[in-house]
Amino acid sequence: MFRFEITHRDSGTSARRGVLHTAHGDVETPVFMPVATAGTVKALQHEWLEQLDTRIILANTYHLFLRPGHDRVARLGGLHRFMSWDRAILTDSGGYQVFSHRELRRIDEEGVHFRSHLDGSAHFLTPESVIDIQNALGSDIAMVFDECTPYPCSHVDAEKSMELSMRWARRCLERWRTTDDGARALFGIVQGSVFRELRRRSVDALVDLDFPGMAIGGLSVGEPKDEMFEVLEATAPLLPSDRPRYLMGVGTPEDLIRAVALGVDMFDCVLPTRNARNGCLFTSRGRILIRNAAYAEDQSPLDPDCACPTCRRYSRAYLRHLYLAGEHLSAILNTLHNVSFYLDMMRKIREFIAFNSYQKLLESMEKSPD
Ligand SMILES: [Zn+2]
Repeated sequence: MFRFEITHRDSGTSARRGVLHTAHGDVETPVFMPVATAGTVKALQHEWLEQLDTRIILANTYHLFLRPGHDRVARLGGLHRFMSWDRAILTDSGGYQVFSHRELRRIDEEGVHFRSHLDGSAHFLTPESVIDIQNALGSDIAMVFDECTPYPCSHVDAEKSMELSMRWARRCLERWRTTDDGARALFGIVQGSVFRELRRRSVDALVDLDFPGMAIGGLSVGEPKDEMFEVLEATAPLLPSDRPRYLMGVGTPEDLIRAVALGVDMFDCVLPTRNARNGCLFTSRGRILIRNAAYAEDQSPLDPDCACPTCRRYSRAYLRHLYLAGEHLSAILNTLHNVSFYLDMMRKIREFIAFNSYQKLLESMEKSPD
């Protein structure tokens, strides 16, 4: 049975520590979920993810729907078996991807008509079909189909969009209940752009539907960072405190530390993996652009405080060379480090919560240069 258990609440902030019990193992929270867009965390073998103690990954419904197709994945035994990953998987609903190709789609009450970014073929997704796709994939945590409201957006448009998403959330849940056996979970997604009153109404609508987990969507879509945190600060306390809270698509290490203090339990973001491929590396001493000439003959490890396979073995000079030479190994070693850095940071976050010293972590971050 899917279940969320809060094991500790920090005494000085709203940070909480907990465990997501899934059919594919326990996941300690707060957790960062590496993004496996097409059923792979780009450049990483699953063994390495396991060695880094990755307990859950995020796969994209939209991408798997288009290629190789959810029916094919289902015939091959579901996504876990197809990709040989027996730990937890969360799938997004595809909403974000469908709506990010603005010129390729048309929305009505029933669903979204869109063209594939791969071959231009026409498709139609509805709240019901998105649930069917995620059921075929067999994800441990599925997400409702929502309209990702663009930013900036007028109050009138944000309200219309939020209300549509709430009607879709109900339709998703109705479809979900026809096959739900309690082993997997469907999360609702709060929308409402930067308008607090709309966010509140969205939370109320989702609470009525009694989702086992709640996501905050439509943030980190171009709004200023202060505005994102204002919305988060106003929204997070409205969410049921006994359910996991998932902040979608966020963010930098600093964002995660701040959001955990507001009571967020789950995160995903392409930042560590995408940046790794672009040679931008997160370290305990700030960000490093590995192409910089300063590292040309630097024999020190990328991050002396990191115990990942990249930092244990290779120098900055070698990593710079691989990057400039366009070697495949560059993406591999850089991604291995960045994912390791994020997962280590989450371990540290969980420890600070356990010792009721989360405020100290926040303060040390505010003092640090990066
Ligand atoms: Zn490292």
